[in-house]
Amino acid sequence: MRGGIVAAGVVMLLIAFFGWMLAIFNPLIGVLLCLLSPVLFIVGLVLLIVGLVISPPQPTQIYVQQSIPTAAPMANVCPVCGRSMTYYPQKGRWYCHSCRQYR
Ligand SMILES: [Zn+2]
Repeated sequence: MRGGIVAAGVVMLLIAFFGWMLAIFNPLIGVLLCLLSPVLFIVGLVLLIVGLVISPPQPTQIYVQQSIPTAAPMANVCPVCGRSMTYYPQKGRWYCHSCRQYR
């Protein structure tokens, strides 16, 4: 939707700048566009600025928020005393230093 606002603004600016070329084919359209071009220019510029100010930041913030939980490290807690345990890959087990036992 917001990309559509920017596109509409660009189209209005293009018509305001290059619409007078249509006067070659039809003088009546040329007169109408000469009268309308200042309005088209202002409205197109406002739409372009509004669309650009509103749209850009939101998609990037969503991706940043999604990437954080997957990077969080896994922590194992001792079921007896509730303290954090250390993993020993050579034993393939978790060791609790408070209880001095493998879990
Ligand atoms: Zn423990």
